Amino acid sequence: MDNLYQELILEHNKNPRNFGELKEGECLKQEGLNPLCGDRLIVSLKLSEDGEQIIEDVKIRSDGCAISRASASMMSEAIKGKSVKDAVAIFHEFHDLLLKKHDPSVCPHLGKLEVFSNIWKYPSRVKCAALPWHTLNEIMEQTSRPSDQS
Ligand code: ZN
Repeated sequence: MDNLYQELILEHNKNPRNFGELKEGECLKQEGLNPLCGDRLIVSLKLSEDGEQIIEDVKIRSDGCAISRASASMMSEAIKGKSVKDAVAIFHEFHDLLLKKHDPSVCPHLGKLEVFSNIWKYPSRVKCAALPWHTLNEIMEQTSRPSDQS
């Protein structure tokens, strides 16, 4: 992997941003597992109460390889302060990036996340990089479901 990219991944692994968990009852939580590598993480999200669904806070407790931890750390930076709608758009771009289908001229929102643009060359690591995003997406799918139909 390119040295600069590798450094960024190692740095985020060593010093993950937004590490930890939000208080129970004030957030949405989801656990993610990647049994192939042994990665495990918990994503907690706090959304704004208005209809905008802004991600007011995000914390991730990650336990696993450098790729999964760095991906979780960078994801937290990328989505904090964004709406769920925007976060879903970034998720789809990132997913395309992992599958080598990303076109930055069409979808320019990835920024630093492009550090993972060569990961498709290492198929066993793709799941590590994707884990935080799939876990996040599970939470976001819950939020888009109508919940007050009782
Ligand atoms: Zn891993």
